[in-house]
Order: sequence, then C-alpha cells, then structure tokens
Amino acid sequence: MNVKLAENYGFCFGVKRAIKIAEENIGSSTYGPLIHNGKEINRLQEDFQVSLVEDISTFKEGDKAVIRTHGIPKDELALLHEKKIDVIDATCPYVTKPQQICEEMSNEGYDIVIFGDVNHPEIKGVMSYAKKGVTVVESVEELEGKFFYEKIAVVAQTTRKVDEFMKVCNHLMRSHKEVRVFNTICNATFDNQDAVKALANESDVMVVIGGKNSSNTKELHSISKDNCKDSYLVEGPDDLDSAWFLNKKDCGVSAGASTPDWIIKQVTAKIKELS
Ligand code: SF4
Repeated sequence: MNVKLAENYGFCFGVKRAIKIAEENIGSSTYGPLIHNGKEINRLQEDFQVSLVEDISTFKEGDKAVIRTHGIPKDELALLHEKKIDVIDATCPYVTKPQQICEEMSNEGYDIVIFGDVNHPEIKGVMSYAKKGVTVVESVEELEGKFFYEKIAVVAQTTRKVDEFMKVCNHLMRSHKEVRVFNTICNATFDNQDAVKALANESDVMVVIGGKNSSNTKELHSISKDNCKDSYLVEGPDDLDSAWFLNKKDCGVSAGASTPDWIIKQVTAKIKELS
C-alpha cells in the first residue's frame, strides 16, 4: 500500500511558537493545556518540567504562568497580573487578533457575532473581550430568531470552515445595513484543509492524526470524510486497526495543527507495518 502525506499538515506557526516559549521557560506552568495534544504536553512535562495548572487560584506570587495558544478570558489574565504572577503570553497572534477586534468593535457600539464553538477555550477568551451583545453561533441556522442592532461585527473561530463562515455573513448582510466581516480564520487552517481535501480525493483510506479534543483535527477529519468515506481519526499508533487497510491501495495521512512530528512518524511507520 502506498502511504502519502498531505502537502501541508501538522504543527502550525502558533503551536511551534508556543512550544518554543514553553521549552525556554523550564519549570514554568501552563494555565490550561498549552496545546490540544496530551502526548506533547507530557513530553514538555518530562523534558522541560513544564507543569499543567487547571485551577487559577493555585498560582502564587512569583510563579511563571505560560498562557496557552488558545488564550484565556480577559478577567483571568487580569487576575494573574493582580496576583503578581510572571505572565508569559504564548497566545497565538491569530487568536489575539479576534480578541482585539471584539474589544474595539464592542467599544464602538457594534453587536458582536462569533462563528464558533461557545465551549471552546479560544471562543471563551474572544467573547470576554466584548463589552456586551455577543452572540456565538455554530451554524447559520442558529441565527434564526436572533435580534441584532444595525451595526454588527463578525469574527470566526480560527479553525472554522470558510464556506460555513460565509453563509453566516451572507445571512446577516441580507437583514442588516452594516455588517463588518473580519476573516479571522487562520492560513494554517486553510492550507491543511485544502491539502487534506486534495489527498482524500485520491486516497482509498485516510488517517488523520491528532488529539480527539483538537478542534482543527476534528475539522480535518470531517473534510477528509466528506471526500473519502474511509477516514479515521487517531491519536497515536495504538489506535490504528489493520482492518482499515485491507484491500486498499493508497493511504493518505494528515495531522492537526497541534500534532508533533514524532507522533506522525510513529503512526506512518505503523501503517506501513500493518499494510
Ligand atoms: S491553527 Fe492557526 S490560530 Fe491556531 S495556533 Fe495554529 S496558527 Fe494559531
């Protein structure tokens, strides 16, 4: 069986940057998981003594807190500063951007619409920068029955599909005079998504590698499945099943933006072994 990697896959700029920051701060703590990949978080803990803190109240004056790639809510950041914690910001600049847009537009009196998952840490952070009137929707259908003032600013979760975002914006433009659209979907997402689509179209079976709690990995898996019905999401080599590769000729492989190279290598080696 041929095993082919997508043209673009794996670690994005924001994740590489966050890991470098954590590695440079040996003995620090990340507030919340630095990235959505448990195996890489364990590696940082073992090799760089970077621990994971989930409860903000456990930070003490002088501790070093690394802020995760997805960012944190504004009031939590203020609390860390208030407690005199040494804050090291590893928030991806592509996540900081929608936070700033939300704050500015909200200050100018715009209602904010966010296209994304209200329970995702990135969106919780972005929402916190709006003064009032923030609405989060996962689909255009969820806009039904919602009331907005005349001025609306729209942003998207960085990992969302652009086509779906456009549907939300089009819907709002039909019924409102002023809609300011900020395309906050990041290029790393586009590149990995385009590449997985192209590869899935020419493969009999697809394996997408990444954390099952990683939004961009799930998105890649969903695009892959739309274009190749035998698409599987795995976190590591142990999740592979030899039955997936029976009578298959071409296997495509992609990986989410927070999947490290060492896991991708382990998975591709195991696929070759199983086929
Ligand atoms: S996927 Fe994009 S927004 Fe998310 S961390 Fe990577 S570069 Fe930043």
